[in-house]
Amino acid sequence: PLILTIESSCDETAMAVTDSHGVVCASVVATQIDFHARFGGVVPEIASRKHTEAIVGVFEETLARAGEHFGVDTLAPSDLAAVGVTAGPGLVGALVVGVAFAKGLCAAADLPLIAVHHLEGHLMANLFETPDLEPPFVASIVSGGNTMLVHVRAWGDYVLLGATIDDAVGEAFDKVAKALGLGYPGGPVISKLSAQGNPKAIHFPRAMMHSGDYSFSLSGLKTAVITYIEGENRAGRPINLPDLAASFEAAVIDVQVAKAVSAVEETGVADFCVGGGVAANPGLRAAYKRALEKRGVRVTVPPMRACGDNAAMIGIAALRSYNAGSFSPLTLDADPNAALGTWATSNAPVPP
Ligand code: ATP
Ligand code: MG
Ligand code: FE
Repeated sequence: PLILTIESSCDETAMAVTDSHGVVCASVVATQIDFHARFGGVVPEIASRKHTEAIVGVFEETLARAGEHFGVDTLAPSDLAAVGVTAGPGLVGALVVGVAFAKGLCAAADLPLIAVHHLEGHLMANLFETPDLEPPFVASIVSGGNTMLVHVRAWGDYVLLGATIDDAVGEAFDKVAKALGLGYPGGPVISKLSAQGNPKAIHFPRAMMHSGDYSFSLSGLKTAVITYIEGENRAGRPINLPDLAASFEAAVIDVQVAKAVSAVEETGVADFCVGGGVAANPGLRAAYKRALEKRGVRVTVPPMRACGDNAAMIGIAALRSYNAGSFSPLTLDADPNAALGTWATSNAPVPP
């Protein structure tokens, strides 16, 4: 069976076609970054309008590329076995565009509907290159809207160990980049700069590093960076961008790694994985590996191309639900605040 999946929770309109072995036959991501960049962040109203404009074109292109994969002109809806869609969490006006399209397609082509949780999709992105990743493990979800440590006891059985009490990690990268006039999104540009900088050049606070729990706080760090920039500007000193980026990143990474180590030790798991847009950060990937592998814990990360929002990761989750016979009614509504575990996939394995 072929499953078409749709992802529209934030600022990418994405679709993919996944076969029964989990092979991605097509994956199309239309990003709206250019429309949001001049505002320094995603503008929800613009996001939902742009999804509406893009979605039919993304659908046609995805079917055409999947057709190419099979050596035919294009796939037709009748070639599909099911439609999966990100139903939450995310921006409500963005989510409803994908959910409405999915429901319409299911009604028109008589296909079953599968709701997928966006963050479970980010976790599933780890399976592209590490298909033998099996619970129990600890997962770090670090993205534009979320920062959390989760104890995955089984697929679908998620114990939230802790989360940010204010900004998400990706949001901190975006806000620091905005303060420096470096555009949106901030993660890629800051991580490129930081590779050339000295992480010890400027000391920034490591908030809640020793709080004894799994909560995070990023807003004070963002403020500290902005205060530093303003101070240097007032003093007429030029800012060393690579040193600033590296010092900011080091403050983020130190806290993430310290809490990951505690979580792994407390739960006693042998596996750890990372999901979300910030999983693309080379410094964070390397720091997790350094700290955890010497403790005998395997660290899995998604391929770089699957860290940011895409529909192929939603396809892996949808395939598991499909194999378990777990479908959603056409009365499905987007839930912008859906907790991790909503619409969860089960342990149904993806056949090799
Ligand atoms: P959520 O997944 O929580 O709903 P989202 O879907 O908007 O949020 P993602 O697309 O998963 O977020 O990730 C986007 C975020 O990842 C942005 O904040 C971006 O700055 C950040 N990011 C991307 N690449 C990097 C990088 N190399 N280093 C740090 N952050 C990065
Ligand atoms: Mg995005
Ligand atoms: Fe995301």
